[in-house]
Amino acid sequence: MSSNHSSLPCGESRRGVPGYIVVLGAGESGTGAAILAKEKGFEVFVSDYGTITAPYRALLDQNGIKWEDGQHTFERIKDADEYIKSPGIPLNAPIIEQLRAYKSSLPCGEGRDGVSKLNLISEIEFAARYTNAKMICITGSNGKTTTTSLIFYILKQAGLNVGLAGNIGNSLALQVAHEDHDYYVIELSSFQLDNMYDFKADVAILLNITPDHLDRYDYNFQNYVDAKFRIVRNQTADDAFIYWAEDPVIDREMKKLQLGATLYPYGFTQPNPLPLGEDELALKGRHNVLNSMAATIAANVLHIRKEVIRESLRTFQGVDHRLQYVATVRGVRYINDSKATNVNSCWYALEAMTTPTVLILGGKDKGNDYSEIDDLVREKCHTLIFMGLHNEKLHAHFDSFGLNIIDTDNLHDAVQGAYNAAREGDTVLLSPCCASFDLFKSYEDRGEQFMAAVRAL
Ligand code: ADP
Repeated sequence: MSSNHSSLPCGESRRGVPGYIVVLGAGESGTGAAILAKEKGFEVFVSDYGTITAPYRALLDQNGIKWEDGQHTFERIKDADEYIKSPGIPLNAPIIEQLRAYKSSLPCGEGRDGVSKLNLISEIEFAARYTNAKMICITGSNGKTTTTSLIFYILKQAGLNVGLAGNIGNSLALQVAHEDHDYYVIELSSFQLDNMYDFKADVAILLNITPDHLDRYDYNFQNYVDAKFRIVRNQTADDAFIYWAEDPVIDREMKKLQLGATLYPYGFTQPNPLPLGEDELALKGRHNVLNSMAATIAANVLHIRKEVIRESLRTFQGVDHRLQYVATVRGVRYINDSKATNVNSCWYALEAMTTPTVLILGGKDKGNDYSEIDDLVREKCHTLIFMGLHNEKLHAHFDSFGLNIIDTDNLHDAVQGAYNAAREGDTVLLSPCCASFDLFKSYEDRGEQFMAAVRAL
């Protein structure tokens, strides 16, 4: 074996004592976890099947952490006490399956997931062991980044020592290692929640649940729902669970579950928690009223002054690529909602439109059912621009609507088409319903290119 660690193959016999940790995946979370683990006295090895980017390589080297990329060397990995998995690696990735099989062949006790003997945790689970900060955690299918950023902004405005973590900002682990805060506002995807066990959120927020990422949950929606509900794990009456009461899926689950947390439902059928009128909110659209309600309740739970909350809700700048205003060209407003990578988020974007709309949609379809936006498309759109390598499914669904349809496979033609089709007073909305990977590096890349093309008009 190339590693000189002294670990036992069965991690649980050593739990609580620094031993050997393997970090799988070296992006933001993996690199942060490796640095924290090293600082806490563990022997650490980082293994990434893809390519580790230069900044993360440099960070690992600076911290004297051994790593490999382009491969997983099983011999170096197999005997770790614990594994910290990047949220990007599916639970059925070959390396995970191989580790499960290996650990099952050993006389170990149960692992953390109770079904295999593998101690596989997320970076958030690991980092949380080393801080006493209050944890405000946000999950949901849509609106996580917006709501997380809004809560972070309110806490900052209130003068609290707060960090932003999870899917945004620096990893929780790196912040715990180098600049521990009193509060963390953490955006949690279902993938992070999958491998969380002892972690407890002081304030947990569940925004909504609509089908997404089913490819990672055996195409079983309930598995995805269960992952989302892991956010309330270990909560007691001292903790808050804030949830959108009108979401049919959340409502159904709440009727089944007996939760320990103090419950804070919100929604249009609940008492209005907002300390100002909806029209005064900086974030526009019905979905953002809901996001602002969730953020307000979280701030109330943390005893933040009403004036601070009101001012923050009035002045928050929003987050790039989410209903982001780009420019007005010849009386036509252009909006970048490139982050709308599923049909539900496009529904909310269309719902927020107050003028006739030219909608640009398409990309990598994740098994979409477009009928969810049928009514809004008929009501608000006069032109649809399909922008993807495979637009057949969009044609099959929308061609019969009798709208002006433009077919493109590149952003330049899409923006030109929108420019030609839009009339003064209209809005051109990029809200694709789809992932970006057929034509772009990421949704950010798609949004940046869109904004650049609009500004060049
Ligand atoms: P996430 O981080 O969950 O992907 P974002 O805040 O990045 O969420 O927003 C993603 C997309 O969802 C954007 O297009 C945004 O307009 C839309 N959106 C934001 N909040 C909500 C909500 N509460 N319900 C539905 N859609 C939303």
